[in-house]
Amino acid sequence: MDAPPVRLPDERLAAVYRDVLARNPGEAEFHQAVGEVLESLGPVVAKHPEYAEAGILERLCEPERQIVFRVPWVDDEGVVRINRGFRVEFNSALGPYKGGLRFHPSVYDGVIKFLGFEQVFKNALTGMPIGGGKGGSDFDPRRRSDGEIMRFCQSFMTELYRHLGEYTDVPAGDIGVGEREIGYLFGQYKRITNRYESGVLTGKALGIGGARVRREATGYGLVIFTREMLAAAGHSLDGRRVVVSGSGNVAIHAAEKAQELGAVVVACSDSGGHVVDEAGLDIALLRQVKERERGRLSDYADRRHGARHVVDGSIWEVPCEIALPCATQNEISVADARMLAEGGCIAVAEGANMPTTPEAARLLVSEGVLFGPGKAANAGGVATSALEMQQNASRDSWSVAHTEERLEEIMCGIHDRCATTAEAYGSPGDYVAGANIAGFIAVADAMLALGLV
Ligand code: NAP
Repeated sequence: MDAPPVRLPDERLAAVYRDVLARNPGEAEFHQAVGEVLESLGPVVAKHPEYAEAGILERLCEPERQIVFRVPWVDDEGVVRINRGFRVEFNSALGPYKGGLRFHPSVYDGVIKFLGFEQVFKNALTGMPIGGGKGGSDFDPRRRSDGEIMRFCQSFMTELYRHLGEYTDVPAGDIGVGEREIGYLFGQYKRITNRYESGVLTGKALGIGGARVRREATGYGLVIFTREMLAAAGHSLDGRRVVVSGSGNVAIHAAEKAQELGAVVVACSDSGGHVVDEAGLDIALLRQVKERERGRLSDYADRRHGARHVVDGSIWEVPCEIALPCATQNEISVADARMLAEGGCIAVAEGANMPTTPEAARLLVSEGVLFGPGKAANAGGVATSALEMQQNASRDSWSVAHTEERLEEIMCGIHDRCATTAEAYGSPGDYVAGANIAGFIAVADAMLALGLV
């Protein structure tokens, strides 16, 4: 994959981008994530030459530490398997590295670095004291037994534990890593270290130090952000036709919250296709199929009157007013974006990380579609992880109502921070510029204060 075209009229930014391409060959997702942030920073480097003079841009693009390790494990047939594990500790200027673990066959350095880079800005936007990192493995958890998942997680943690700590690096879940995997990872950490250090991993089940609303937080937060973005433009979610891609943690909770606020979610997807359900998704059935049975969406369609399963084609062909991509990176192409805009879509908000290609995002904005970038719109998960860390540190457990109140407050804060920053830097209504600039300034100021470290 070639480096995506980026628009960098400022020579200092263009030089940083060229350097990133040269130093990280073949890592297209990382190039894309860096290019997208640098494109927003022209007005910032013009107004604040001190950032460029201190090498902040170059330092931000180079992870503080990258750990790559072998993960040996034995499958149910007694066959020895080898996977590769990663942890990229990207930036700790604002606090301990914080970011999820992804288990998916597509994982390699470029994916983890793109996610870690995004995480730095996202975490800064929450206003909470957390740095950015990301990790994972090319392990494919699908069709693996519970025993195989446990053995893999234990082997993964046997190496990773030495790099973690509640003041050092605090992972959470991501694609392929949910409460079950976090439980096995924490169990092995506890066994090796002989410490019940709950604050070392977030996304834990409630009974082992997890926080209420953590599971729901990314999806709920996404819909709160969307609600605010719509309200600022004089719209609401009530009665809107919504399409959500994915049917994992983020997608299910986004669909649930959107329906709670009066929208009708008519489609969702998984890696085997998408399901269209004009009556509005039956969330309880979706949960049963995807979370409990770990089944396919075709099972949902078989059991739900009026729903149809579509194997070929894109979910974005389903007409909608609001699109919430919640599956994976680069799932909305230019052609999809054109279909959405022409079909009457008024808002796209990213539940997944970088699900929209840069060209597709530009097209949506130029067509007047409201666009909420992932680093702002899906920050509710990591923000609630930081709340989980607070509860673990004080050995406390908050109620659902209190945690939801904090999430609401945080998401509205992120929305407002993006909107006011975009306006202050000459791009009113541009949430991409607002998120990139506000996140960058918070991290850059902390890096200046800490000196050249
Ligand atoms: P998840 O629970 O593992 O669900 C992922 C969903 O996306 C599944 O339905 C999966 O389908 C589908 N999917 C994955 N790769 C796909 C592909 N290449 N093509 C089509 N469908 C694909 O993961 P998640 O936690 O919801 O994460 C989803 C996205 O949100 C990711 O981009 C993640 O980085 C981002 N995110 C997550 C959180 C969080 O708190 N979990 C926070 C911020 C951002 P199958 O069921 O067929 O595998």
